Amino acid sequence: MRDADFFRRWMVAAAAAVEREAQWLTELDSPIGDADHGSNLLRGFTAVRAALDAQDPAPAGPGAVLQLAGRTLISTVGGASGPLYGTLLRRTGKELGDAAEVSDEELRAALDAGVAAVAGLGGAAPGDKTMLDALVPGVAALGTSYRAAADAAEAGARATVPLQARKGRASYLGERSVGHQDPGATSSALLLGALADAADG
Ligand code: ADP
Ligand code: MG
Ligand code: MG
Repeated sequence: MRDADFFRRWMVAAAAAVEREAQWLTELDSPIGDADHGSNLLRGFTAVRAALDAQDPAPAGPGAVLQLAGRTLISTVGGASGPLYGTLLRRTGKELGDAAEVSDEELRAALDAGVAAVAGLGGAAPGDKTMLDALVPGVAALGTSYRAAADAAEAGARATVPLQARKGRASYLGERSVGHQDPGATSSALLLGALADAADG
């Protein structure tokens, strides 16, 4: 079973990964975007870490941790990724409810709902060269293991290179978006990598 502390460790690991890779995420967002994805997520996840530290009493359960993280991303990240990641975490947290502990299967089902909410908000589907190209295969592989999910998300991110973007800022480039890895799919792989790190202890 996974308690609130596990989810705090996930968010802290995500913040660390974003910090480590912020420059790369921004570089990926240069040819097919506006070169701010790394700084957007750095601002967002730094605020998430601060919000989790500042909560007194600490969020009691997994659902509360993820909903606080999601709300924080929505209120601090201006770009498209803020509301999308915020929705992912808020919706996942809402699905987990107010249980003090959740099973891996409950988390898998909740993340499924969270990813569906991202698709609902942004109107994108796999193949559109967005974060969904990492999130969908990643969450599908959660039934195997957290590390398998991280690996599937990373493969999904790399597989965005030959795609033409159909959603988001990169879609304005049409065919010129081909040949570049999608920044949001890349950060989604980092997010699932952080989950695997939290699960490894
Ligand atoms: P912005 O494009 O507003 O500057 P970011 O650079 O932070 O925002 O995030 C860009 C990423 O957001 C893209 O690489 C893509 O993965 C993701 N994205 C953009 N629009 C959508 C959408 N409609 N659905 C899913 N993901 C999207
Ligand atoms: Mg951008
Ligand atoms: Mg922007």
